[in-house]
Amino acid sequence: MMEIRLIKGDITKIEVDAIVNAANTSLLGGGGVDGAIHRVGGPQILEECRKIRARQGGCKVGEAVITTAGNLNAKFVIHTVGPRWNEGNSNEAEKLKNCYINSLKLASENGIKSIAFPNISTGIYGYPLEEAADIAIKTVTEADFPEIKSITFVCFGDDNYRLYDKKIKQL
Ligand code: ADP
Repeated sequence: MMEIRLIKGDITKIEVDAIVNAANTSLLGGGGVDGAIHRVGGPQILEECRKIRARQGGCKVGEAVITTAGNLNAKFVIHTVGPRWNEGNSNEAEKLKNCYINSLKLASENGIKSIAFPNISTGIYGYPLEEAADIAIKTVTEADFPEIKSITFVCFGDDNYRLYDKKIKQL
């Protein structure tokens, strides 16, 4: 039985096996949650990201890679690249769905039992909050990864928190 949790706050503080980063294709860090994870997690995370870049040239939109979590409470960081909102004209919904599925798949392959997601693409990438929340919640509730026991949505802003709270209660 998989548990869905909702927390308001900073994902770098959450104690789970893996936290997900809303990264960019370069994997070299950026603003928002990406900046926070690298800042708190320390240089080890970037070092592993550079190795992944050398091997496969970054990470495509919708895909995911895994690294150490450095100094964070988590054991791993799963970096996924959300789509940039383009008025719905660039298959954004499918790409965002793939972020959640590919992160869960990678988690499952690495024996991760608890995972926390930020609200991918809803910051700098400008994805409309309600549509993004619907995709996130639908995708994780329909996903079939029996080894993953707990999925936490970590909402940084009040708007996202209220949306997720309402939608999760309706499940
Ligand atoms: P993207 O480029 O995918 O939009 P952002 O990092 O700009 O990535 O935003 C993604 C979401 O992460 C936004 O909802 C933003 O409010 C949130 N966020 C920013 N900092 C943190 C943090 N420390 N913990 C959790 N969520 C965060």
